[in-house]
Amino acid sequence: MPESPTATRKRAVKIIALLEETYSEAKIALHYNSPFQLLIATILSAQCTDERVNSVTPGLFEHYPTPQDFLAAPVEELEQAIFSTGFYRNKAKSIRGACEALITEHGREVPRTMEELITLPGVGRKTANVLLGHCFGVPGLVVDTHVKRISNLLRLADSQNPDVIEKQLEEVVPKEKWVKFSHLLAEHGRAICIARRPKCPECPVVLLCPSAQT
Ligand code: SF4
Repeated sequence: MPESPTATRKRAVKIIALLEETYSEAKIALHYNSPFQLLIATILSAQCTDERVNSVTPGLFEHYPTPQDFLAAPVEELEQAIFSTGFYRNKAKSIRGACEALITEHGREVPRTMEELITLPGVGRKTANVLLGHCFGVPGLVVDTHVKRISNLLRLADSQNPDVIEKQLEEVVPKEKWVKFSHLLAEHGRAICIARRPKCPECPVVLLCPSAQT
């Protein structure tokens, strides 16, 4: 018999509590000092590890502190600066497009609403939720690769579409845990629920996971 929505919500609360005990230090891994820096770092983090992005951004922000500085740089120079994060041509294009939009449409500030954020080049709901949750105090559920995979394993979601997963998780994860949730699953995905070789016998939520292999 399928689990009722109420039972799924209760199970989600227990899972989150156990993960919070296990990963008490879980927080955003990207380094930034302003919404603008987090915007650029999040664009760079697509298909790239946060560690790699963190190794690139200090020099990048020193060289290009503002949207105007990014736009003034020759595109080849910017591509070279972000080369090691992968997909550097697309990312340079997105960064330049986002900087141009900030300057021409948003008074050189990062906008504070989902509707405005997702109009910026290179910014989807995932990036927008990262910014809303960490810079503007607006709870948002970030569906990254870990959240997508582990939410399905835990049967808190049953879709491969990030937008659908976001909606499904909103129904079962308490709102005050939305921002934390993605950090917990990222830690869990790196430490125990590793793709293709999860360490289920060591998992703190093994008794609450329908996909457990013991
Ligand atoms: S029990 Fe296994 S599959 Fe389920 S969350 Fe834990 S590690 Fe992942």
